[in-house]
Amino acid sequence: MKNLVILGITGSIGNSTLKVVQAHPEKFRILGASCRSKIEALEEIARSFKIPYLVVEELSSVEKLKSSLDYKAEVLVGEEGLKTLVQLEEAEIIVIGISGIKALLPTYYALKAGKRVAIANKESLIVAGDILKKIAKEAKAELLPVDSEHSSIFQLLQKEKKEQVKRIILTASGGPFYRLPLEEFVKITPEMAVKHPNWKMGAKISVDSATLMNKGFEVLEAKVLFDFPLEKIEVLIHPQSLVHGLVELIDGSILMHLSSPDMQLPISYALNYPERVKLQVPKVQLEKIGSLVFEAPDLEKFPCLKLAYEAGQKGGVYPLILEAADEVVVEAFLQKRITFDKIPYFLAKTLDGFKIPEMPSYKEDLSFILKLHKEVCLYVENLIKGNKTC
Ligand code: MG
Repeated sequence: MKNLVILGITGSIGNSTLKVVQAHPEKFRILGASCRSKIEALEEIARSFKIPYLVVEELSSVEKLKSSLDYKAEVLVGEEGLKTLVQLEEAEIIVIGISGIKALLPTYYALKAGKRVAIANKESLIVAGDILKKIAKEAKAELLPVDSEHSSIFQLLQKEKKEQVKRIILTASGGPFYRLPLEEFVKITPEMAVKHPNWKMGAKISVDSATLMNKGFEVLEAKVLFDFPLEKIEVLIHPQSLVHGLVELIDGSILMHLSSPDMQLPISYALNYPERVKLQVPKVQLEKIGSLVFEAPDLEKFPCLKLAYEAGQKGGVYPLILEAADEVVVEAFLQKRITFDKIPYFLAKTLDGFKIPEMPSYKEDLSFILKLHKEVCLYVENLIKGNKTC
């Protein structure tokens, strides 16, 4: 029986993790969980799994939660609460199911404590991948991907020698607007953008999928996780979302990983690795699917993907700048302050215009990263407001 901690238990990764746990209650016990704002949902999950440690964001939620639980639980708050939770001695696997830069510190502390970290969060890997990998190595912690494409690549690479890999390919569904003419992009509303054809996800990542920024981030994430140069990481549009990743070897063979688009699979793989267990997921019926479709991405229509490669080529803090800028720009779109077609415009402007402060030691320093992230956010906010001198 493994002790599991799930950060973001009320979100979509948390939800799929619960299904994996329910499928094998003999394997996992939920030791701790966190949520941001869905206190009632947390309460319900906590009751049914009798989770001993809970973390909420606001102090004001603590008493409310404690009094509504029918068992005794330790309720902790905020960043400090998350730090305590991921470092609990009994905790063995930490699932990072929260989005945004907020996941960085808990991921760092979980790795530092030598845990197995099943990471669904792209942002921390993009902004501080090198630091996280270094810490993981020092603490003999495991950093396992949960993002479906990366899990696929991870699974495909198990038996392959790195030097025999020619390239890795991440697939992208193309999102809801892949066939929409570019002139129509200005009319895309947040409501349209959050409806993803194949995956059910949070608002931010749905918008990122619609702009292909998500795929760009995944390219940067793959660079960190698998340590391949960008030239060896490619993207193919595959609207069926059945093949999640491909690995081409030097002899011309291509291995592909195919499964129904259900996050239980990558989560279960990260939790049970190197074992596999049975899961209740829809069966793929290849005879009904008939054919698999792949095509090259349209970078003119979806410049965000190109921006990610550019930021990755420049290296250093450029991936961080792109990621931070995207958080603000997408939020502005969701609040209807900018139109959909302006998302790449503001991202490109930030990559070009943001002046990187002189701080050579950043590679080791999380506080620098968090500070820089805030500065970029402020810069973009001002850019959107039309005030370029911030
Ligand atoms: Mg993905």
